[in-house]
Amino acid sequence: MTGIVQISIGRTVIVMMAALVVAASTGSAGAQQDNAATATDLAVIPECSNNKGEQVQFSTTDRGRPGLAAGMAIRDGSGKPVVIRSNFSAAPREFQQFIDRHECAHHQTGDVDRPVPPRNGPEYLRNESISDCVAIRRLRDEEGFGNQAFDKVTGTLRTDMAKIGFPESSIASRIRNIAGCFKNPASARDLIRQVLQERGLPVQ
Ligand SMILES: [Zn+2]
Repeated sequence: MTGIVQISIGRTVIVMMAALVVAASTGSAGAQQDNAATATDLAVIPECSNNKGEQVQFSTTDRGRPGLAAGMAIRDGSGKPVVIRSNFSAAPREFQQFIDRHECAHHQTGDVDRPVPPRNGPEYLRNESISDCVAIRRLRDEEGFGNQAFDKVTGTLRTDMAKIGFPESSIASRIRNIAGCFKNPASARDLIRQVLQERGLPVQ
């Protein structure tokens, strides 16, 4: 496998990785069809290109843990940057929008083309915090998210993380980070620029 896998929530979902990647690279005709009935209910796909200026494609699958929406940022079998939306119809639209932008951020910051840091280690968690931060600021600045939509995002995140079995301390710390980012007037772009500079990657 060539791509780095980052998921929004849950170590359980990671087991689905191989299946999802196969679905992505073979066109996932079955999954597309399964999803046709609900496709119109899904959030509008956001603008997303990676740190190299490549357009990121979004695809949808109904695989993954039932009832749990998740996302994945990878390069597919042909090397194209993609976001895979898994079980999106299980989540409120605000949370779908959050996952899309979180996964997009893994492309925007260059995470997808970097070595995968040890899971749940400091570097891994920092990457997750950055993607969360970029996502909530984009929703605030581009989609007009206020406190009510914010609560919808963090409420769903809390429920889903608890379902997966994350300890309260992890849930609280993740939500604290998102809340801090939401209050801070700096933009998503500011943070992406800072991360790319730290990594010695060109800033567009
Ligand atoms: Zn992530």
